[in-house]
Order: sequence, then C-alpha cells, then structure tokens
Amino acid sequence: IIQATNIHKSFGSLEVLKGIDLTVEAGEIISIVGASGAGKTTLLQILGTLEQADKGATLTIAGEEVTRLGTRATAELRNRKIGFIFQAHQLLPEFTALENVMLPALILGTSRAKARERASALLARLGLSERAEHKPSELSGGESQRVAVARALVNEPAVIFADEPSGSLDTANKESLHQLFFDLRQELGQTFVIVTHDPVFASRADRMIVLKDGQIERTEVHPPTQG
Ligand code: ATP
Repeated sequence: IIQATNIHKSFGSLEVLKGIDLTVEAGEIISIVGASGAGKTTLLQILGTLEQADKGATLTIAGEEVTRLGTRATAELRNRKIGFIFQAHQLLPEFTALENVMLPALILGTSRAKARERASALLARLGLSERAEHKPSELSGGESQRVAVARALVNEPAVIFADEPSGSLDTANKESLHQLFFDLRQELGQTFVIVTHDPVFASRADRMIVLKDGQIERTEVHPPTQG
C-alpha cells in the first residue's frame, strides 16, 4: 500500500534521510525505531505526505503516485486514506471528546448518526465512554491522547501513521492501544506505520525497521502475532 524509493531529505546542510527505500503491504504493522535524531519523525512525515522528500524520490500510496500529485490532490488523498496519531494532540477545546472524534467524519460527509456511532464505539474501545461528554480541559493527558487516537481512526483510514502513540499512556492503556491496532488490522485490514521507543511494541510489529543516521540499518521480520 506504500512504495517509497530513494527518499532523501536535507534541512539546509543537514542531511537527515540518506536514501530510504521501503515497501509496506496492506494490513502490515510496521514499527520504526532508532536513536534520537535518526530521522524517524521526518520519514513518517514524508510517508504521510505532510512533508516533501527531496528531488528524485518516488512515493506511491494506495496506488496513487504522490510525488506526481499537486498540493490539492495530495490533501485529498490524505483526507481519504491516511490517519495520523501524533504526540501533540490538538483537540478543539470548545467541543466534547465525542464531538472531537465525530468531526473528521462529519467533514467527509458522514451522517451525524453514523459519525456518532463510530465515534462512540471507538471511545468505548479506548475505555473512554465515561468521558465522552467532557471537554478537553476536563481530561487528563492520557485521556486526551486516547481521544486523539479515536479521532485519527474515525474515518477508517487505510493507512495510519503514528508517532509515539503510547507516549503519555500508562502500561494498561498502552497495552489496550496496541491491542486496538492489532484488532483493527484484523477487522478492517488497516495498515499501521508506528514510530516508537517502546521495545515491547516495536518487537510485536510484523516488521521492525531500525533507522540509523538517516538510513535503514536493518529490518527485523517478526512471526505473525495477534498482539
Ligand atoms: P526523536 O526520536 O528525537 O524524535 P527522530 O529520529 O524522530 O528523533 P527527526 O525528528 O526526524 O528524528 O529529526 C532528525 C534530524 O533532523 C534532527 O537532527 C532534527 O533536529 C532535524 N530536523 C527535523 N526537522 C527539521 C526541520 N524542520 N528543520 C531543520 N531541522 C530539522
């Protein structure tokens, strides 16, 4: 579902990515690990079409060659196919948790009833049913993080990019978030590309990509797992 070749990226004179080739199959769960500054976040942003690679790269997502699309077509592809889970989860303060999760679905034209149903189901799976009617200011950091996860998943994107998705969660919530990823892959065939410092999760992924100094140092293939 993702084919990336020859991904280079420099910021000024700093060469952050030095020629990455990566193919991800639909329904795969990939973890990306590596030391701080290795280029993990930059790679994720490029694969997620939020940032452009330097000249010479090709990136194809769900059959569309992103590197040939204009800004508008890229944004459309992103809205239809891609979900993001980032640390800096900016929930809209004036809306409840449930409304925050419903919003991306409403924007894509999903009916209110359907959006509510999906949003409620996701919040329930993330243990947040009790918090659905609360506003972000009344939620803990970990709860907000999980609301942001639900929001990223509500449109059932084919590919989900996550940067340290379990960063601010305690062990039990980390565990259930990881389980949710595996369950969704099972149910909907979704694909996950996850940057993580969590060795347990990294090693449960189907494949673990180790980045070092802007290159893939090695890849570990793991036996099939249910999470
Ligand atoms: P961490 O684990 O600390 O998040 P990382 O592997 O995700 O690190 P990146 O965030 O991809 O690393 O950053 C790689 C390098 O690129 C770093 O040295 C960072 O300072 C630099 N960098 C990232 N984004 C920019 C930018 N927009 N402008 C300039 N330099 C940047």
